[in-house]
This record gives sequence, C-alpha cells and structure tokens, in this order.
Amino acid sequence: MIVAEELVISSLPQIPTWFGIGGGAARFAEVSSPAQLRRAVEIDSRLRVLGDGANLLVDDDGVDELVIVMKGEFAEWTVNSSAATVRVGAGANLPKLINETVRLGLAGLETLGGIPASIGGALVMNAGGKFGEIEQYVLRVFGISRDGREVVLERKDIPFGYRRSGLGEYLLTGCELQLAPEDPAAVRRRQKEVMAYKKGSQPMAEKSAGCTYKNPTLEDDLPELFDANGRAGRRIPAGLLIDRAGLKGLRVGGAQVSDVHANFFVTHPGATARDVIGLMNEVERRVMDRFGVRLTREVVVWSRTEGSGGTK
Ligand SMILES: Cc1cc2nc3c(=O)[nH]c(=O)nc-3n(C[C@H](O)[C@H](O)[C@H](O)COP(=O)(O)OP(=O)(O)OC[C@H]3O[C@@H](n4cnc5c(N)ncnc54)[C@H](O)[C@@H]3O)c2cc1C
Repeated sequence: MIVAEELVISSLPQIPTWFGIGGGAARFAEVSSPAQLRRAVEIDSRLRVLGDGANLLVDDDGVDELVIVMKGEFAEWTVNSSAATVRVGAGANLPKLINETVRLGLAGLETLGGIPASIGGALVMNAGGKFGEIEQYVLRVFGISRDGREVVLERKDIPFGYRRSGLGEYLLTGCELQLAPEDPAAVRRRQKEVMAYKKGSQPMAEKSAGCTYKNPTLEDDLPELFDANGRAGRRIPAGLLIDRAGLKGLRVGGAQVSDVHANFFVTHPGATARDVIGLMNEVERRVMDRFGVRLTREVVVWSRTEGSGGTK
C-alpha cells in the first residue's frame, strides 16, 4: 500500500459494477477533497473515475490506470429551497438525491427514477429516458481537467445529446441543478409512475448495465435508407431490432440477452466479461446481417486492450 499526500492507494481485486463481473484495479483510491483529486491526477493523468458502475463493463484482467471513486465532500449536497437549486458532488448517489428532492417538493429529478448512478456518471452519460434527461436540470458543471486546471462549464457550453455530454474528458466534481417547487404529493406521484414504468419494462433486479446499445437513427446508422423528409433524429429502439432479429434469450457463456428487454444483457453466476463482449459481438453481427444497422454501444468498456465502448 502506498500513502501519497494522504491519498491511500491500494489494489482492488474486482472493480464493483452492476454486472458483478470483471477484473480489478492495480491501483485504487478514494478521493475525498480537491487536494486529493489534484494529487491523484498528478500520480496518473490517465486515471479512470468509477461512479456507481451501472454503465460499466470491466474486462476480466482489469485495468492498469489508477481508478478513483469520489467520496467525502464530493458525495454531499446542499439544497437552496428558496431558489429551488441543488449543489451536488459528483460522487453523490442519484437515487438518494431523487428521494430527497421529492421529499422537499422540488420537481424535476423524479423523472430519472430507477436510474442507478452517481451524479458524475449521470452527467457524463446524460442519463435519462422516456420521462427526461439530467441535462434539463443542469445549470453548471464543476470539475478539473487532466492537467489539474479547475473548470466550470455553463449549461449552454456543454454539448449534451442523447446519452452523451462531451464531459468525459474532465474529472467531474459536481454540478448545480435547477429544480421547480411543487406540491410534494404531486412530485411523489410522478416518481411512483416513473418507477412503475421502469419495473414493468426492464429487468431491474438482474445484473446488467441497463441498455447495452444506443437507439439508432436512420441518418447516423443506416444513411442509405435515410429520407430527410421530416424523419431526422427519429430513433429506432435497439431492443426492437435485437428482438426482431430473434435474439431475446441468446446466451454466450454466462451472459444473456434479457427475455424481458432485449437491449439489456444480464449476467448469470460464473459469467465473465469476455462472455458479455462475445455476446455483444454476436448481437452486433446478427443485427447488421438482418437489418444492415451498426449498433453503437452505450455500455462503457474498461479494458487494457480496447478503447472505451460507450460514447461520451
Ligand atoms: C438496472 C439499470 C437500469 C438503467 N436504466 C437507465 C436509464 O433508464 N437511463 C439511462 O440513461 N441509463 C440507465 N442505466 C445506465 C446507468 O444507470 C447510467 O448510464 C448512469 O448514468 C451510470 O452512472 P454511474 O455513476 O454508474 O457511471 P459508471 O458506470 O460508474 O461510469 C460510466 C462512465 O462515466 C464516467 N464517470 C463516472 N463518474 C465520473 C466523474 N465524476 N467524472 C468523470 N467521469 C465519470 C466513468 O469513467 C465511465 O466512463 C441503467 C443501468 C442499470 C444497471
């Protein structure tokens, strides 16, 4: 174990993710203050930030870079009730913050109910779905660059898009959110509706990373069929393509296309990251053969040999 300016660096046999599989980190540290974060980036400017591990597949032999997780003051929040704003650290847990804002009658985040995430991970991925996306509530984002420079990015300067933010190059430390005061009972009702929808349509209790693929558009993913007459931006559910290609339930080793939602890949006991990658390769090949659509991975892959899978 190395102790560097109060930054305790140890190794981690398995990086915790929602898939529950994959390798470890040769160097791992919990970072609880700006000084520790600066120290971490000095030690390894290529460090990787682990959020809640809900959109992450770590390859079986793990990663070489320093892996950090944001704790301490980075996991706290303060609410300004009169302005309906929240200042929250990147390491805070999104579902816990949602419960708190619902309790206080601050509307907005309940639309993200059922999405497991740290605030940092939710910002990088622009987490959201049918009911809303986190970008709708962002006023500004705080972080540091990989050369240790502090950055404050205003909402208008962040290129948020569908499951992307352009923020992945920074080490995010937090953000300020603008919510709206509303009757707490009404906000709670909406939260329950969102949760009921999620539970009814997704395998929430199984080990997965949520949607494996982004929903493709004709203009980006199948341009030869794209007809610009009013259809730009229209997305086809990746799960529908996987389902119609007959791939629900397809299994490679311990990894399986969910029977409930074809865009969710779930892992069974004994599964390896290579099984999930094998399943992704097979599904991508068969959807390409059947529909000519190249699926884009939403799941981020950490590996010694491949670049990150997800686009940020
Ligand atoms: C059951 C289930 C349901 C899901 N449903 C949805 C859904 O409805 N909508 C949706 O959008 N997603 C969904 N997901 C996916 C996941 O919840 C989101 O992508 C979430 O935003 C991931 O956040 P995280 O903190 O777990 O990030 P991680 O998986 O830990 O990391 C994802 C990426 O963000 C980076 N990152 C994390 N924190 C920081 C930081 N502070 N600074 C810089 N980079 C950082 C990581 O390095 C990595 O590249 C679901 C996942 C599961 C398991």
